[in-house]
Amino acid sequence: MEDCIFCKIVNREIGTPLLYEDEEVVAFRDINPVAPDHILIIPRKHIRSVADSTEEEELIMGKLFGAARKIAKAQGFQENGFRLVVNTGADGGQTVFHLHMHLLAGRALGWPPG
Ligand code: C5P
Repeated sequence: MEDCIFCKIVNREIGTPLLYEDEEVVAFRDINPVAPDHILIIPRKHIRSVADSTEEEELIMGKLFGAARKIAKAQGFQENGFRLVVNTGADGGQTVFHLHMHLLAGRALGWPPG
């Protein structure tokens, strides 16, 4: 997708340092963190949102959770815990329409979210 900022990160047109990468997934730190550790985990494939995803893309979406587990282990988030969030659509607070999972860690997080 030409104008997708996250596709540009995937294609290395923007040099955001990657915290994790494999064949289907990349992860990097959020530019505007809302927790001491705020990491975005995204599929290399441009999928607009969970709502727009297909059955064929379920395997890729599962890979986001696998990447989250590996990152959490590597970064030492497992002991105190962390949160995974996937904002979806306007009411869900999604602002970038390339599917992404937020991994939040480093402080006790409140509930419910705003
Ligand atoms: O879930 P939502 O779509 O609101 O999240 C998009 C996230 O992408 C925001 O947390 C924003 O700070 C982040 N972002 C980024 N780098 C960009 C553009 C957006 O980390 N270049």
